[in-house]
Amino acid sequence: LGERVIQLIFNFTNTPRGVFIMWRDETETILFEEQKDAFLAELSHDFRTPLTAINGYAELLMYRHTDDEKTHAMLTLVKQEAERLERLVDNFLDYQRVSYSEELLTRQPIDLSRLLESIVSSYDATSANHRVTLSTPESATIEADQDKLLQLVHNLVGNAIKYSPNGGTIDVSVTDEDGTLVLSVKDSGIGIPEEALPYIFDEYYRVDSDAHRPIKGTGLGLRICKRIAEAHGWGIHADSVYGEGTTFAIYLYSPIATNQPVHD
Ligand code: ADP
Repeated sequence: LGERVIQLIFNFTNTPRGVFIMWRDETETILFEEQKDAFLAELSHDFRTPLTAINGYAELLMYRHTDDEKTHAMLTLVKQEAERLERLVDNFLDYQRVSYSEELLTRQPIDLSRLLESIVSSYDATSANHRVTLSTPESATIEADQDKLLQLVHNLVGNAIKYSPNGGTIDVSVTDEDGTLVLSVKDSGIGIPEEALPYIFDEYYRVDSDAHRPIKGTGLGLRICKRIAEAHGWGIHADSVYGEGTTFAIYLYSPIATNQPVHD
């Protein structure tokens, strides 16, 4: 394991004067990468196990306390925050660990309309301060890696909620643009300044504005969205007006689609 550089040293008349050999042993670097992968896989499991228990029991208790409004509200918050932490852990650890290359996707036919319905209803149940609407065709089958697609949509809807004031509405939709399905997540939140738009998909980039600064994040969510979209061969695009709102669009090129009329 390593790299060799052999360089001939010439004098001014181009006659070889000597040989320079450099050897770099990368065994340690490769072993370190392997250890790091194993460590992150273990860490990811260690984080998820207690979070799954917190989520599960919070949900169970919520059903047992439906008549006690205050307790129910507190448990909803526990569940909501545990889910948020789960997504942060997923994003951070997966980003370090998972390679989002095309070969590593487990593609399967997915009914995008059904999948979005379940995501949107999970937000409806937990985000008391925002409304999430959905508009899709009757059914729209695409070929995708389900876990990655879920992560992509959760990152976009999660951001839309996070960067919108209370009372805001988030519109999730699937439309047909000249034979290409487009999945959009539209919010009427704080928006993104025009000069920041080219950088939002960069690793660890966070918009530095008065409206954005108080809102916490890692700057990895959109980078992950972009990687997931690109691994599938999809396009991802953001449009925004600062102070008015933002729309993210995923262009689902070459899906195996059964498109029917769009209805709410
Ligand atoms: P973060 O964890 O900081 O939210 P992301 O990678 O998801 O990181 O997003 C990068 C940055 O883009 C965010 O820090 C935020 O400044 C901006 N941003 C992302 N989504 C939105 C949105 N829907 N509305 C306004 N700003 C957004």
